[in-house]
Amino acid sequence: MATILIVEDNVTNMKLSTFLLESADYTVIAAVNAELGLAMARESRPDLILMDIQLPGMDGLQATGVLKADPETRDIPVIALTALAMKGDEERILAAGCDGYIAKPLDYKEFLRRVAAKLAEAPGTVAGSPE
Ligand code: MN
Repeated sequence: MATILIVEDNVTNMKLSTFLLESADYTVIAAVNAELGLAMARESRPDLILMDIQLPGMDGLQATGVLKADPETRDIPVIALTALAMKGDEERILAAGCDGYIAKPLDYKEFLRRVAAKLAEAPGTVAGSPE
């Protein structure tokens, strides 16, 4: 089953996302800031990264830019998690290199549907693997 890295500084959001994903049998690894998230992405090579935009220090868009500039990590799809919903935000998120975004608060079913859809289209997807 796929491994998903969540980069999220809000404890409640982290708990909720982790619970939903683990309930759907994904393996979850968690980082509370961008710097830790970048280190875990390089080390663990997750199948998907869920990236909060508003983080202390380096924000999620900057972190995505770093991931997408690194040949080691640029093929890992990144979905932004954002409370932003203003005009222009989508363009800003996609321009930063994110492969999509999901608005918070999370709609549980939609969240899991979007995660599954992104994993299914990712190169090197593990669908059907003995794992
Ligand atoms: Mn945040």
